[in-house]
Amino acid sequence: MIQRATRQREAILQVLRCAESHPTADWIYEKVKKSIPNISKGTVYRNLKVLKDMGEIAELNLSGTVCRYEGRQDNHYHFRCTECGQIFDLDEPVHKEMDETIARKTGFTVSSHQLEFRGICKSCQHK
Ligand SMILES: [Zn+2]
Ligand SMILES: [Zn+2]
Repeated sequence: MIQRATRQREAILQVLRCAESHPTADWIYEKVKKSIPNISKGTVYRNLKVLKDMGEIAELNLSGTVCRYEGRQDNHYHFRCTECGQIFDLDEPVHKEMDETIARKTGFTVSSHQLEFRGICKSCQHK
């Protein structure tokens, strides 16, 4: 039983690490089903939560969209296209100094921040 659970989790993690964008739980489920046909949706959802709690994956909380998952473990910024809904990773260093600025101004302890840019991606501009 434990072995099976591990195998399922490994398969889910594998799918996420290889995913090019930021898949939804349903997309992950469809992919994982190809290697483990009898896996249930509930199992996939449960394992995603476990992986998130383990810090292996991140859950993207983007306003106004269904929850998406992230296989990358380093913090990075995102761009969301308001036309096609695609989410892109940005090649922009994370501005750690903003954490310190906010901590100084508020007296709060800041562990990280997320940034989401919005606009229209290149291919939607050319439509
Ligand atoms: Zn677009
Ligand atoms: Zn990302």
